[in-house]
Formats: sequence, structure tokens, C-alpha cells
Amino acid sequence: MKIGIVGLGLIGGCLGVDLKAAGHQIYGVARRIETCQQALDRDIVHCADVQLTSLADCDAVFICTPIATIVPTVMVLSKILKSTAVVTDVGSVKAAIVEPATRYWPLFVGGHPMSGKSEAGLEAAEAGLFQGNSYVITPIEQPLPPTNSEAIARVEQLATQLGSQIYRCSPTDHDRAVAWISHLPVMVSSGLIHSASSEPDGTVRKLAEKFASSGFRDTSRVGGGNPELGLMMAQYNRNEVLRSLKQYRQSIDHTIQALEAEDWQAIAKQLNETKIARARYVEPAVEPTTEQDAKQNYVAPSSITGS
Ligand code: NAP
Repeated sequence: MKIGIVGLGLIGGCLGVDLKAAGHQIYGVARRIETCQQALDRDIVHCADVQLTSLADCDAVFICTPIATIVPTVMVLSKILKSTAVVTDVGSVKAAIVEPATRYWPLFVGGHPMSGKSEAGLEAAEAGLFQGNSYVITPIEQPLPPTNSEAIARVEQLATQLGSQIYRCSPTDHDRAVAWISHLPVMVSSGLIHSASSEPDGTVRKLAEKFASSGFRDTSRVGGGNPELGLMMAQYNRNEVLRSLKQYRQSIDHTIQALEAEDWQAIAKQLNETKIARARYVEPAVEPTTEQDAKQNYVAPSSITGS
């Protein structure tokens, strides 16, 4: 398949590496000519250009630019691509993207690979980033015509080749769910680093910096990641990020009250419950999926609500 990748950063670069290894012809588009050259030098793409017109002959295009530029890119592509081309994106929010993008291109399929790293840019691209992780497809049913089923199948086929486990859900359920497991953790982790850095005693602060080990490395990783990406999560998924942060604040208040009251039983109860609950989120994904499995993994709209 001839596959276009717009935005040769971390995710676009990783897609290029794996889809090229799977035997596809990869056409990259970057903003800067230096990025094009770097992608060619690293053998991540077969061709690279700064013009979207270079994708005119592609069968599928992945848009891997920052969230704010995804819909404008679909608009420009709609004047360039052949009518059978499938367009998908990898943006970390979906409701703000899928409907307007589908208006520009009926064969648009919203997608979000649940894989990442703290580093940004093409330098951080590597093989196998998506292996074993979830890849969420977010079709819509209304008010536009439903997302084209053949277009969904083509994107799911490619995501399967990345070794991902495929899920389907509505864009709004996606945004609510990822607020809990991705966007809230970024805000909380950022708040953690910010709080530790505001320790007023300089000696203690320096000691904390020196003592920090695996625990702080784990809990600070997403707060120390790409600031542009975190900002766009907050801007484009504002309501769900606010909702999850308010719930988190209640949880913190609950812990503070228990500590002030020396209610060790309440603290132990919560820690025991969260020890068990964590496994539901971080157990390794099962085997890579087939299209049939993806249909079975369809999460009906609203069934996530309230969880
Ligand atoms: P990144 O490493 O910063 O890469 C973004 C790339 O897009 C950069 O190479 C940038 O080019 C390029 N770009 C920006 N505007 C462009 C335009 N108008 N035309 C062509 N290229 C353009 O960011 P990323 O982490 O890969 O994120 C990209 C997308 O993936 C975002 O939508 C994000 O929500 C999604 N995503 C990210 C993660 C993650 O953990 N990082 C995970 C899943 C999904 P320059 O090099 O010239 O600046």
C-alpha cells in the first residue's frame, strides 16, 4: 500500500519505521526540509517532501501533526487526494477532530495509538512503539453519514500490522476515558514536579533532587514530557480534563482528611483497593487483534460513562 505520513515527529516517525518494515511504500511530509532529509537518512521513509501534493497517489494517509493542525491538514488534503484514499489521524483527542474532519473527507477514520514516550521529535522514533498496546478507532454514527466500514477496515488492518490491540468506541467516550488514563496523569505528574520544585528550603530541595530514583522517575515521566502536547490535551479535551481533575481533588482532600485525623484504617483501605485496581489498567494487553476481535472490542457509546 502507498501510505502517506504527515508530520514526521515521534509518532509519525515510529509509524514510518514499522509500516515500512511491514512492506508498505512510505511517503513522508514534514514542515522542514531538514526533517525530510533526516527521515530519508534514517531510512524511515521511501520519499519525503514539504508539500502535501506529494501524497496525491496514496491509498492511506496518517496525519501525525499536533492536534490543532489535524483538521486544517484534512481540509488541504481533500483537494489533493484520490477519492478512494483513506485518511486517519493519531491525535490524542477525538471529539474535536472526527466530525469536522469527516465533513472534509468522508473516508476519514479517527484513530489514537495508545503509545508514547517523554521525548518528542523524529530523533526519538524507534521500531515497535505500538507493539502490544491499544490502538483506538473512533467511528461516528451521526449527525454525518456513519464512518465508512471499508475505511475502518483498512486502518484496522494497518494498526494490526503494528502489533496493536484494536478497540472501537465513540469519540466522546474516548475523550472521557483518556482523560482518566492519559490527560489527568499528565496534569497530576506536572503538579507533582511543580510541588516538589517549590520546596522553600533549598537544602531539602537539593537533597530531594539527588535522592529521586525509580519511584519519582515513574511518577514524573508524563509530566516531564512534550509541553505542547500536554497543552493541547488541556485545550481540546478541556471539559473531561476538568471533570477528572475535580474528582482527583476530592480524592486528595479525602486523603488529607484521613491523615489529619490519623485515620490509618482509611489510608490502608484505599492503598489496598488501589493495589488491586491498578492491575486492571496495566496488565499486559492480550494478543494482537484481528478485525473480528476489534468488532468484539467495540465499546457501546455511554457504557464508559460513569466508570
Ligand atoms: P512531535 O514529536 O512533536 O511531532 C510533531 C511533528 O509534526 C513535528 O515533526 C512537526 O514538525 C510536525 N508538524 C507540525 N506541524 C506540521 C504541519 N503543519 N505539517 C507537517 N508537519 C507538521 O509530536 P508527537 O508526539 O509525534 O505527536 C503528534 C501527534 O500524535 C499529536 O496529534 C498527538 O496528539 C499524537 N500522539 C502523541 C503521543 C505521544 O505520546 N507523544 C501518543 C499518541 C498520539 P517540526 O519537526 O518541523 O516541528
